[in-house]
Amino acid sequence: MALDETLSVADFPAPGASIFGTALSRDLGGKGANQAIVLARTGLTCRFTAAVGADARGQEIARRLAAEPLEARLMELAEVPSDFSIILMADEGENAVITTREAAAGLCPDLARSALDTAGPGDLLVLQGNLSGETTAALLCEARTRGMRTAMNPSPLQEHFQDLWTLLDMVFVNEGEAQALGGVDHLRAEGVAQVVLTLGGRGAALIDAAGHRAVPGVPCAVVDTTGAGDCFMAVSLGSAMLRGTGLDPKALEHASRAAAHTVARPGTVGAFPTGAELARMLV
Ligand code: ATP
Repeated sequence: MALDETLSVADFPAPGASIFGTALSRDLGGKGANQAIVLARTGLTCRFTAAVGADARGQEIARRLAAEPLEARLMELAEVPSDFSIILMADEGENAVITTREAAAGLCPDLARSALDTAGPGDLLVLQGNLSGETTAALLCEARTRGMRTAMNPSPLQEHFQDLWTLLDMVFVNEGEAQALGGVDHLRAEGVAQVVLTLGGRGAALIDAAGHRAVPGVPCAVVDTTGAGDCFMAVSLGSAMLRGTGLDPKALEHASRAAAHTVARPGTVGAFPTGAELARMLV
């Protein structure tokens, strides 16, 4: 969970340089927030938990989340600043991102577990890679104890992920992540029941006990791919949960439509489909 500050620059600054930039946008960001917002917009009841600092950024995050149809449980940590990202968009189309993570790393296992206090069978825990290894493992164990299902996008990549696979029902990876983690067959062999591999404009594949099922991407005019993976994961999960099934090709088809919508618009949260748009896509 972070506040994203996006700047346009002619080129990335060289060491020691001072350059001009143009402020493009300031918005909610971070994989967790992106996924929670889209999940909630699909119509699922969604609780989003994250740590923020006791500062103006934390207040702004709370204010912006209040506009979304989810329950936000923000844990305010006294000693750390709220996380934020500086995104540089160079004229060449390349991005460079700097993200702070003191707040996410400061979310301790006990505080995080308290977010699951009313969760039980039929509920789903969705995680990304930004929490500490200890907190991530504690949340997944708590979810197992409560009979919840679990899904994760293991990004940013961290060493401790290799100890988590037996606690995960569904894992979403892009091609780079899949390669770094030893391949989708390795994840399946380690105990992940369903792996979703996203392939950018080429679409995605669902790898599970039924085999390897490919779902094509939806052609669109690409404007900004930021958040496409988060949107894809959230809509896949939302589609399956709303229909009371596990992940299936229909869930990935719904997700492909929603992700193409996102890719064809600038920004992140502002580019995600609205609740009304998702209702039309999830048929
Ligand atoms: P990002 O980091 O940009 O959020 P990612 O690397 O996690 O994305 P990708 O595999 O690039 O994930 O994209 C996720 C999904 O978004 C794809 O499976 C596809 O459905 C959709 N998508 C991405 N790029 C395109 C594109 N150029 N055209 C159509 N759909 C796209």
